[in-house]
Amino acid sequence: MTLSKSQYIRGLQCHKSLWLLKNRPELRTKADAQTESLFEAGYSVGDTAKALFPGGVEVVFDSGDFHGMTEKTKALIEEGAEVIYEATFKERAIFAMADILVKNGDAWDMYEVKASTKVKEYHRNDAAIQWYALSNAISLNRAYIVHIDNRYVRVGALDVNSLFKIVDVTETVKERQSAIVPNLEQIREMLQSDMPDIDIGGHCKDPHLCDFYKHCWQHIPSPSVFNLHRMSAKQKFGLYRQGIVGYPDISDDVILNGMQRVQVDTAKTGIPHIDKSVIQAFLETLVYPIHFFDFETFQNAIPRFDRQSPYEQIPFQYSLHILHEDGKLEHKEFLGDENSDPRDALIAQMLRDILPTGSIVAYNQSFEKKVIKKLAAFKPARKEALLALNERFVDLIVPFRKRGYYHPDFNGSFSLKSVLPALFPDDEELDYKKLDIQNGGMAMDTFANLHRLKDKSKREEIRSALLAYCRLDTLAMVKLLEKLGGLHGV
Ligand code: SF4
Repeated sequence: MTLSKSQYIRGLQCHKSLWLLKNRPELRTKADAQTESLFEAGYSVGDTAKALFPGGVEVVFDSGDFHGMTEKTKALIEEGAEVIYEATFKERAIFAMADILVKNGDAWDMYEVKASTKVKEYHRNDAAIQWYALSNAISLNRAYIVHIDNRYVRVGALDVNSLFKIVDVTETVKERQSAIVPNLEQIREMLQSDMPDIDIGGHCKDPHLCDFYKHCWQHIPSPSVFNLHRMSAKQKFGLYRQGIVGYPDISDDVILNGMQRVQVDTAKTGIPHIDKSVIQAFLETLVYPIHFFDFETFQNAIPRFDRQSPYEQIPFQYSLHILHEDGKLEHKEFLGDENSDPRDALIAQMLRDILPTGSIVAYNQSFEKKVIKKLAAFKPARKEALLALNERFVDLIVPFRKRGYYHPDFNGSFSLKSVLPALFPDDEELDYKKLDIQNGGMAMDTFANLHRLKDKSKREEIRSALLAYCRLDTLAMVKLLEKLGGLHGV
């Protein structure tokens, strides 16, 4: 039975996951393809890395003709190719594609390209199985992992030699060869048997979130011990293995911290927990005019703009509601041009829009403050003014985290997307599900790819959806503050 390299890696994570893939693929949770389908394919990290070894020949991927791909690879090797991209092999019943093969004397060096910013454990296993298969057909010299170096800062044309880091993993790969045959024997035996009896565990998310997660976790009620705030995974699985799963299973003997006990108690009574002294202390920190501020950011693995690093969070949008002492509420917003670096225009408008005095309220302020700090480094001329903003931040998550208000429907999460619907369950204006863009991840992916979209009217439609999403983030904060004020009787 032939296995692909990724199937072997899946089998190392969990035998059951590989068994289900081979026998019950319909139980997989499909990745959300919505954003991807809107845009033309981007220029991938793998494609960019080919420039490290220019002049190679590519074995073009053809899902209907793997045999043709292996034959093409053989022919290229025989013809004396020096560099081959996507060289394809079926050896020792393993189907493997090497990202880049480079001739080195009589042997070949093997390069595996990863979009991550460091070498991960499973990358080494990935290179090891690759080596196992390829070494049956060609003589191998060294194995390398090529990954993104996030210290790189683009200046002018892309410098691929600085963008990527090349790590020699040959010794580890060779050491791991002895484990591969027994691993493969176990996997093949397992695949010829009934579904393995493997319970849920830390392996369901490590190294990848398993796509059978929904299927395997369906017996876990909501809420469960897995929703307990700031409890370690080890403790959660410890309780689970003792049969303590749902909140009714949690007796007074189970040691919980204050927040976790509030979660369990409010879930039993259905009555929110309120501590007015915490709310009062928070409200006293606020100074009018109160600014409610939220950034959206995008990131690129391969920097598009000057002075951009790989995966750097680049702000492209903000929403700002300003609540004046007389009750007047005004709204301001910024959405950058998707075709150019939005940072200069954003900084200029942000420093105009935010008034010289008053609190700046964010939800989980560390993100906004970090982005502002980066902007200050990006624009030294406005550094002082930008950093002065960070002194005025107040974090609206604090009264929730400090148990000033806990609603059982928070389910142990204090994110805006959990808190808002629990406090305003029937308010359509505050319902993210009514929007085309419903979360920060979607906003990020959408904007990062928007410049690829040729259709201008579609682009405008998406820009409106982005504005509506970000506006709701700050309106939500206004409403939450009103609610806290009301709870406190002010
Ligand atoms: S969800 Fe967990 S137990 Fe189920 S197949 Fe995946 S890794 Fe295995």
